[in-house]
Amino acid sequence: MKQFHLIYKSDEEFLEKLDEIRQWCDTNAAYRTVFRIYSDDMDTEHITHVCNILDDKMPEALYFGCTSNANILDGSLMESSILVICTVFEYETTQAILLQYPFTEDNYKEAVDDLKRHCEENPWVNSIEMLATIMDMSMKGFCDEMSTLPKDIQVFGGGAFNPDMDDEVAHVFSKGNSFSGHGIIFLLLGGEDFHAYSTFISGWKPLERRFRITKADKEVLYELDGRPAFEVYKRFLNIEKNDNFFSNTLEFPLFLEREGVDILRCPLSVNDDNSLVMSSDMEENAYVRIAYGDPETILSSIWQDGQRISDFQPEVIQTFSCAARRAFWGDQNISKETVMFKDVAPTAGFYTHGEFLRMNGNMLNFNVTLVIAAMREGEPAEDKKRVFCGPVFKRLDKIPMIWRFVSFIEASTAELEAMNRMLSDMAITDGLSGLYNRAETERRINSEMEKFDAGTGDGRIYLIMLDIDNFKKVNDVYGHREGDQVIIGLSNVLRQVTEEFSQATAGRWGGEEFMVIMADEDMDTVMGAAEKIRKKFASMTFDSAGQQTVSVGVTQAKAGETVDALCTRVDKALYKAKETGKNRVVRLDE
Ligand code: GH3
Ligand code: MG
Ligand code: MG
Repeated sequence: MKQFHLIYKSDEEFLEKLDEIRQWCDTNAAYRTVFRIYSDDMDTEHITHVCNILDDKMPEALYFGCTSNANILDGSLMESSILVICTVFEYETTQAILLQYPFTEDNYKEAVDDLKRHCEENPWVNSIEMLATIMDMSMKGFCDEMSTLPKDIQVFGGGAFNPDMDDEVAHVFSKGNSFSGHGIIFLLLGGEDFHAYSTFISGWKPLERRFRITKADKEVLYELDGRPAFEVYKRFLNIEKNDNFFSNTLEFPLFLEREGVDILRCPLSVNDDNSLVMSSDMEENAYVRIAYGDPETILSSIWQDGQRISDFQPEVIQTFSCAARRAFWGDQNISKETVMFKDVAPTAGFYTHGEFLRMNGNMLNFNVTLVIAAMREGEPAEDKKRVFCGPVFKRLDKIPMIWRFVSFIEASTAELEAMNRMLSDMAITDGLSGLYNRAETERRINSEMEKFDAGTGDGRIYLIMLDIDNFKKVNDVYGHREGDQVIIGLSNVLRQVTEEFSQATAGRWGGEEFMVIMADEDMDTVMGAAEKIRKKFASMTFDSAGQQTVSVGVTQAKAGETVDALCTRVDKALYKAKETGKNRVVRLDE
């Protein structure tokens, strides 16, 4: 496989370069030629002109392309150009078929059905490169359909970009087909000597603050935490609802937590009701977090994947990188994440509107991601192996100010989150004992009883109530401080014993009174636990107070009874323990 790069500047120069390619093909094994055309010049007449030259001068070659945000040549950003990448296949076995279809939510199925038919008829297909206009369209149905392709076929590609977000500006085109503002192109590649390796790199990191999706329908995100979704961008990032909304939010997409995997989703526009139109489907009750690019994470993931790509020993590397990444890094630095691939193999591509990659059979539609497809004909030659070096973080010219702010936000958010956790812990914890406080203990009894009534729990709930014996005397004789030590001593015993059970919690009920809630056990086990607490406490020795004892009441909740009735009964059991001589466990069933 041989790659040539051409940039259309003038007819003369372009024709000259085409002649060079022709000559190379005449003297080398050249079986098939495919041109990829990426244009950040939106003028279809200019692109048509280039296509006409190819039709004329290379009639047997295939060509296809799309409008782009900018192009990537030699792994670096290049602007204002029509980039033409010429791939010559040097193995007779390598085959290629080019397909173009209309692509809307109404007819994507026909495109995929026909693609499937082609794959069936041509079992040599092992890779599909695709370009699509993905404006105003949910990709979910398309991705689901694509996931049913034969398992061993890789799919990778990108969405045609349009700078104005105007429906008809993004285009795809291919040999023998007209420009399409709603189109999809598939390049089917394969053959026994054609190999591809595709992967993706994100490197975006979520900020700590989570929002729950309280209302969503397909790609429309209505509410986060019960408020119109746009308000999150307004409130946290001061992003206004205007024509710049898309470009402003590109750098701050949302991480959608789906089955434990974070998927990036970009907000595309704001509706009148302050709902957001997202780049792909959202999911009610899932959580999202605002994400940002972390240069260190990005570069370390590139380092890892770069190694794998170079191990594959490609002859050609195709990159489909999200325009949002360019917005994030800035033109000064964006090439830093792809330039080192050119040391491995000729690297070219474009900045996309959405990226596609099939992983483990599932077709995924990404945003803010870099999809890389490495290709090779024949087996790798050990002696020709190129080494992947870099990226090196220090090579960045200048750390953009935004990263400093992100670092500040991360540090502050982490501090606030830690503070919040501490405050919410404090709100439910008793200061002296470290056990749950009375309010939290009551809340837990209530919630267990609700589960009991609703039939969702195990249906066996027990209370163990404890009161230290003759505690007033401890205070009077040894002082309040020693009294506190005795309370802490019993609290530690309660913590130890309840930890032995999966469904047991202990709380301080007040003064020297405590309550243990246990569920999912039988009465014998609960009585055993109560007895264990009593004995352990009795065996402790305090500095001045020496040995102390505790009285314990135990009862089991009955279906349909109130929390009050339950607590009264356990209190009665405890009273009985006191009455009958203290330092004992008494169980009361009625
Ligand atoms: P009984 O065996 O019947 O339970 O006798 P008692 O002396 O333990 O009974 P009483 O309920 O009259 O005494 C409880 C005492 O606990 C009264 C109160 O001063 C003391 N107390 C309550 N909270 C604390 C605390 O946080 N620290 C200390 N040191 N004492 C406390
Ligand atoms: Mg008491
Ligand atoms: Mg007492």
